[in-house]
Amino acid sequence: MSFHIPGFTNASHASATSATKADELLGGLLLPSFDRNSCLSRYESHQYYRFSPYAPSTYLLRKLREYEARHKKCAPGTPLYAKAVSQLRSGRGTEAMECNYLVWLPYNGLGNRMLSLISTFVYALLTNRVVLLHSPADFDDLFCEPFPDTTWVLPPDFPVENLSQLGLSPDQSYRNLLDRKKMSNDPVFLNLGHEHKFMDKLFFCGDNQVVLDKVNWLLVFSDLYIVPTLYSMARFRDELRLMFPEKESVAHLLGRYLFHPTNSVWGLITRYYHSYLAQAEQIIGIQIRMFPFGTIPVDDMYNQILSCSRQEHILPTVEVNGTTSSGADSKSKAILIASLYADYYERLRLTYYEHAAKGGARVSVFQPSHEGVQATERRAHNQKALSEIYLLGFSDALLTSGMSTFGYVSSSLAGVRPTILLTAHRHKVPATPCVRAVSMEPCNLTPPRVRCTGYAEDKEDLAQHVKRCEDEPIGVKLFD
Ligand code: GDP
Repeated sequence: MSFHIPGFTNASHASATSATKADELLGGLLLPSFDRNSCLSRYESHQYYRFSPYAPSTYLLRKLREYEARHKKCAPGTPLYAKAVSQLRSGRGTEAMECNYLVWLPYNGLGNRMLSLISTFVYALLTNRVVLLHSPADFDDLFCEPFPDTTWVLPPDFPVENLSQLGLSPDQSYRNLLDRKKMSNDPVFLNLGHEHKFMDKLFFCGDNQVVLDKVNWLLVFSDLYIVPTLYSMARFRDELRLMFPEKESVAHLLGRYLFHPTNSVWGLITRYYHSYLAQAEQIIGIQIRMFPFGTIPVDDMYNQILSCSRQEHILPTVEVNGTTSSGADSKSKAILIASLYADYYERLRLTYYEHAAKGGARVSVFQPSHEGVQATERRAHNQKALSEIYLLGFSDALLTSGMSTFGYVSSSLAGVRPTILLTAHRHKVPATPCVRAVSMEPCNLTPPRVRCTGYAEDKEDLAQHVKRCEDEPIGVKLFD
């Protein structure tokens, strides 16, 4: 399902001429001061998005401007950064500093990384820290710098070595430090990733936040979207409410604020868009992800897509017995498929070749790539993945795969509540093919299993804004 709140940006056809300055800056999320040519997507993406249902709150805009100033003051190359690094090098432990940092470490695929990056940024907004990225070669040339006149990339001479090889539970992880009662350590590694066994779950407890407040350098290792869980923490809830009066808007707004594909990726995106999608009156994005724990035969998956489509009226229905008709829905429609495999594209394309769509709709089916396997260590592969996440983000309607962060990011960027295909757990085709999402927010697929003061306490408020995910009952997500 998609919807549009009138009065805010809705650029249904890519046309630079209809753009206004206000659209271009996404309701004030973006600043006008960047060099346009060095990152074309920053000021052009608004021409492609079909929906912008939420405007940023004045309070959020204030927090972003404050963040940008802090980042500039504390970033690599500044005296304050040099001071904080030399404090870290000295091994003297924590000491009150003007600038405190979150070093983000990449973990898992691109969707996971984008969601953990948004989460880390939210935590930085909540705790007045500065986010720096450990960006290995496979993560280069994907995103432009998001903050003006500065950088968010961690310099290679950062004194903690082997950042990519720290593993799930290094010596300086919060759990290990607590075990050794060594709480004045700097840096502290936080494993906030999906594996419960290694998760630093005490991070989510109020008194532990007081301890962590004193640490200058936190290394954040996570593949999850933890914002719903931050909302479940009493100390952050009010601030999150102020920044995001509409709970559903967090990843939508911050995704559009933080992520701007580099010119090479923007080239992939816009070439494809103008060659295949621009002419369509409606774009239907379909994202098909098969996890190792939920593989099913192609026929079964294809049937699940069709039965979901019948249930939720997603794909154009076809005439049987060779008839054609004209009718109300004669719009031209592009079906955009994102998948590692070509099978679903082949089947759908043949279907609309062999059969007319009801009402005379002209239907075309496209798939930009079919990479076969996930290859996160290859930059060119990640650039295609990012391109497809964005192309899905330009859809009018979305059908995504359950439990897939790739799909979650697309829906949030699009500003669309997707229909979600349920996962074939233990390879069993689900009885209900799909569900409609009640919110475009991503799911935190693995919230911590922890009971402590300050976490998940105000049951009434939480019940109103945090719910179990439609596609994963142990997960939680924000909604309004
Ligand atoms: P998730 O595993 O579905 O939660 O999503 P991630 O993005 O974290 O990891 C999946 C990775 O597999 C992606 O980042 C891509 O590298 C690759 N991948 C999965 N589906 C697609 C697809 O439809 N298109 C492309 N180009 N790559 C995909």
